Amino acid sequence: MFDVHKIREDFPILRQQVHGKPLAYLDNAATTQKPRAVIDRLVRYYESENANIHRGVYELSQRATTAYEEARGKVARFLNAPESAEVIFTRGTTEAINLVASSFGRAFLKRGDEIILSAMEHHSNIVPWQLVAEQTGAVIRVIPMNDAGELLMDEYERLLNNRTRIVSVVHVSNSLGTVNDVKRITELAHRTGARVLIDGAQWVAHHRTDVRDLGCDFYAFSGHKLFGPTGIGALWGRRELLETMPPYHGGGDMIESVTFEKTIYAQLPNRFEAGTPDIAGAIGLGAAIDYIQSIGFESFEAHEAALLKHATQQLSKIPGLRLIGTANKKGGVISFVVDDPPISSLDLGTRLDHLGIAVRTGHHCCQPVMDRMRVPATVRASVTLYNTIEEIDALVAGIRRIIADEGSRKSKSQARPAPSRLALQFPEPAAASPQSAAEKLIEDFDFMGDWDEKYQYLISLGDKLPFMPPDLKTEANRVRGCQSTVHLFARRRPGTDDELDFLADSDADIVRGLIAVLEMVFAGQSAREVLAFDIEAFLKRLGLDQYLSMGRRNGLASMIQRIRAFASAFTGAAAPVK
Ligand code: PMP
Repeated sequence: MFDVHKIREDFPILRQQVHGKPLAYLDNAATTQKPRAVIDRLVRYYESENANIHRGVYELSQRATTAYEEARGKVARFLNAPESAEVIFTRGTTEAINLVASSFGRAFLKRGDEIILSAMEHHSNIVPWQLVAEQTGAVIRVIPMNDAGELLMDEYERLLNNRTRIVSVVHVSNSLGTVNDVKRITELAHRTGARVLIDGAQWVAHHRTDVRDLGCDFYAFSGHKLFGPTGIGALWGRRELLETMPPYHGGGDMIESVTFEKTIYAQLPNRFEAGTPDIAGAIGLGAAIDYIQSIGFESFEAHEAALLKHATQQLSKIPGLRLIGTANKKGGVISFVVDDPPISSLDLGTRLDHLGIAVRTGHHCCQPVMDRMRVPATVRASVTLYNTIEEIDALVAGIRRIIADEGSRKSKSQARPAPSRLALQFPEPAAASPQSAAEKLIEDFDFMGDWDEKYQYLISLGDKLPFMPPDLKTEANRVRGCQSTVHLFARRRPGTDDELDFLADSDADIVRGLIAVLEMVFAGQSAREVLAFDIEAFLKRLGLDQYLSMGRRNGLASMIQRIRAFASAFTGAAAPVK
């Protein structure tokens, strides 16, 4: 019998509280937590085995080499690969795909050849192929999908032809959860003589993998999504193919002999592992594989399926919530948006975090999927063997509560008179200079307690943001680099020399709050003062940088850059790039 509570005891990180609430970690598609067995193995390696591998004749080096090569054997058996020399350690799925794209591309692709990808690929299975297409003149074709997020196999068959050299598709989609029939995809590709790479990043931690049964030519995965360390992953490839492919990286450990005239490359797998690899990572990955095999996929597949079913049923019952990705065959990934009341994914994720619930928000490195599904972003919960039904219930209750709060907040703000579309009103200066506006804000923030209070204050500032008419929300006014949709318009205040009028808006409440801060500091101020003011230092002083995610900080930086660009256009000075 599978006992999830017993499994949870293996993962020390899961015991903690976040924002005073028990942690519900539901971002396993991004990375998984590590069991004690993996952590201990890393410690043991560094405490008693650490040395560089392959070249040392001494005891420690041999111990490290043995452990590293044993890990390779574990990966090979884990994938049911014919031999361990066909397993190449990489930094993860991304590097494995780059290796194939670059090396296979150089060996086998020429102008007019075709590469088939699918509409649901992660950027790491798109960009490497675009790079190689640019270099070789090969062309990328894309298998379309339906509204549920299932690949259209008829269309795929139509795309295959005698120019197709490689098909590279995801086993399980990280943004939609779709499980693709990669065995069938492979069979069809092989009929035209094309090779097949499978991105197994989201598969390997959930079900047994058998590359011989799948029949594919390459299989890529990341250790950190399989309870192993970050910075390590593997590529499996058929010997006869790998042997005909040029090395990806050059350097130490991948050669037989080197002279300035000619280098003879080492045999597999070393020819693809230049430089000192992540030795500890590989050994840790081996420990992760031991761990998962000691539990057995058969014992937790039903548990994960039950989590997915429960989450799908409960989330579907929430009015206003829409699931994105409703394929017939799905893995433990549930993406959704809340349309009514409209709540941006960013706000949902931030508020769920306040409840101790960790989910992913954004485009999940799948912008083409977001475009296809006509959503800017989704919230994604992804489960694994240590998640519980109670955690799903906490997620569902959290979303219900956020929707209820948001409904009453929005109805209150709608009770205010609607701004006329014609009355284009720019905010008045909040103080005599950016500096004095900043000082007032710092005082207010210092007065507040924890991040929760500051967050609520930001949201309330955002609620009072001056209205931005829809006709100003043009593509030209769109600020890229934000996780949410942001528009920003600025102009010189009529009748002034260089005073800055600006309006901005976003679909995310937290971003509206940040816009309000920028408006308080900059609106109506002279462009010279805007350019001279050290906004970065001010934001740091407010303490926002320590709470904002990287993505949000980058978004904020893009807005600031846009404001500076406007300001410098009035003064003729170049916008400082920070
Ligand atoms: N492919 C898929 C389907 C993924 O989910 C991910 C990770 N989100 C990757 C590739 C890239 O993996 P990594 O960042 O570990 O290289």
